[in-house]
Amino acid sequence: MTQAQEHLDQWLRDAHAMEEQAVKMLGDLVKRIENYPQLHTRIEQHLSETHAQMASLEACMKRRNISSSTIKDTAGKIVAMAQGMGNMFASDEVIKGLLASYTFEHMEIASYKILIAAAEADGDNETRKVCETICKEEEDMAAWLGENMHKNTKQYLKEANASHA
Ligand code: MG
Ligand code: FE
Repeated sequence: MTQAQEHLDQWLRDAHAMEEQAVKMLGDLVKRIENYPQLHTRIEQHLSETHAQMASLEACMKRRNISSSTIKDTAGKIVAMAQGMGNMFASDEVIKGLLASYTFEHMEIASYKILIAAAEADGDNETRKVCETICKEEEDMAAWLGENMHKNTKQYLKEANASHA
């Protein structure tokens, strides 16, 4: 087995575990943002994209004859951060959710850029294409969150003021 093969297999497992954490985090978040219709719609859309990403990764792993593994440390830590903060500062859990999501999407982007290079090095064209497609979805999600951070924060503060008064 070459290093490219071996690493690609492991990094695909890591990505799959990362997406499992994404499902968990987005699923928690979506329940807390019903007052934010646009954010709610976008997160729901990305949650269903994430389920499809997992299925695409599983297909790649099956073709390569590898099994899935346990939670990736880094992904698990960011989700734990989101959940911990959400509990500690219950009143601004929406903001903590946005912070964690934006961070998480960038970790996903880096992971898929790495996978694209590794798939290319291993000559696995199918996996490279899958990772390019997923990477684009993560970039779109990250860009949307970035573009809407200002607006969403303002809306949060407005609602916080209204409920505080
Ligand atoms: Mg993802
Ligand atoms: Fe994502």
